[in-house]
Amino acid sequence: MVSETELLDAIPTTLWIGGPVSATGGATFPVHNPATGEVIANVADATPEDAVRALDAAAAVQAEWAATPARQRGEILRAVFEAITARSEEFALLMTLEMGKALPESRNEVKYGAEFFRWFSEEAVRIHGRYQSAPAGTGRILVHKQPVGPCLAITPWNFPLAMGTRKIGPALAAGCTMIVKPASATPLTMLLLAQLCSEAGLPDGVLSVITTSRSGAVTGPLLNDPRLRKLTFTGSTPVGKKLVEASAHGLLRTSMELGGNAPFVVFEDADIDAAVQGAVLAKLRNGGEACTAANRFHVQNSVRQEFTEKLVAAMAEYTLGPGTDPATTLGPLINESQLDIVGDLVEDAVAAGAKIELGGKAPGGAGWFYPATVLSDIPDTARILREEVFGPVAPIVGFDTEEEGLAAANNTEYGLVAYVFTQDLARALRVAEGLETGMVGVNRGVISDPAAPFGGVKESGFGREGGFEGIEEYLDTKYIALP
Ligand code: NAP
Repeated sequence: MVSETELLDAIPTTLWIGGPVSATGGATFPVHNPATGEVIANVADATPEDAVRALDAAAAVQAEWAATPARQRGEILRAVFEAITARSEEFALLMTLEMGKALPESRNEVKYGAEFFRWFSEEAVRIHGRYQSAPAGTGRILVHKQPVGPCLAITPWNFPLAMGTRKIGPALAAGCTMIVKPASATPLTMLLLAQLCSEAGLPDGVLSVITTSRSGAVTGPLLNDPRLRKLTFTGSTPVGKKLVEASAHGLLRTSMELGGNAPFVVFEDADIDAAVQGAVLAKLRNGGEACTAANRFHVQNSVRQEFTEKLVAAMAEYTLGPGTDPATTLGPLINESQLDIVGDLVEDAVAAGAKIELGGKAPGGAGWFYPATVLSDIPDTARILREEVFGPVAPIVGFDTEEEGLAAANNTEYGLVAYVFTQDLARALRVAEGLETGMVGVNRGVISDPAAPFGGVKESGFGREGGFEGIEEYLDTKYIALP
């Protein structure tokens, strides 16, 4: 295993446009370790001109990449999967250093993130069209799929690898070129990935990475450039809405993976121990900094007390500390502002009458730590029931009937994922169908799978990543009429 210093010394900190290149003007911005607040790297700060350079590179090789046989594209993707897997410890350590999560969490993300290259290496050769006779006997219909063209991907900091690979895998498999703009808090993982892709045989220009501290100013010109054909975004709902508006100018294809406010619904007929196990995963995976994180726990009143006591006991087992410490199971939050947001949501709930069952107070000192926290007796007015928490805080509220539970779960503008625990299959299906979300976990606290279509409805966005659906986001349908 490489040391932290060796690893950081070896990571590219330049832009990646057909290889490592400096930002115009040579400016850089710092990347911090959330466990200490210290600067771990200074990364090239792209200008709008640099973004256009990346699009020049993408546009120059788009036709050649689209014409590269699908088998060959798939083999390059497979080689990248192998390369990430071979260097999984480096990726894991790097993500822990720049994002903060505990090393086992980072290792899980490496597996999950790499898998999008394997899955889409297999999908590259299964892009189908169709041929049929026109029903009226007037001719023949040929349907052909083609890559949409150069794409821009904008990604968040919470899964520095997987949020990129979920987009890069299908785009490259479909024959699109892509420019990635990673979050400014966690740019290093994408830079390492770009280097690996190049080493694995990906032609220059097919994948570029532009790191910047001025996201809007740098990506704006691309959205207005007719050569760009698609924007795929993962991040918060307010930024997603702005980007949809900005994409209207060029009528870009868009995919929006936005915020969540996942309800976790426990019925009295559930296996309560299994529900608690699922709840801990749904809440504390990635330290609670996941769009799929359970945001609210709606528990049928007859089992609420038992569920609360068991959840408190299970969450109390988590050890807060630097992600690199082998004893740590819960790392720090990404930055001070996120720490303030989580602290404020808890204080607001407590001021409104909520009871702290566990945690509830940041330890202070260096780094941006917040402990595993459980709240009960939460009034409907508390902001924590409506806003995305993005931290290790579990608010528990009760309900009496199935109708009430379902209505409470759906009482949000978000619609990414919901979790249901019940041993009654008919109820599970009824409630799953009634939930206004793009995904439902039944008796499961983790649902992400590269082979499944991930995505939301309502203000959680549109488009799907992963599954057979994922590649469709990067394909246009052409109809060729034949005599
Ligand atoms: P964010 O503030 O919306 O930022 C996401 C990305 O957009 C970052 O790269 C950011 O760059 C960039 N950005 C911000 N303003 C921009 C602008 N005006 N124009 C172009 N780019 C802009 O979200 P975040 O705080 O990084 O991530 C947390 C959010 O992501 C949560 O709401 C979470 O639910 C959501 N998320 C959703 C999914 C999903 O699949 N649905 C998955 C993971 C996370 P900077 O870093 O420079 O600000």
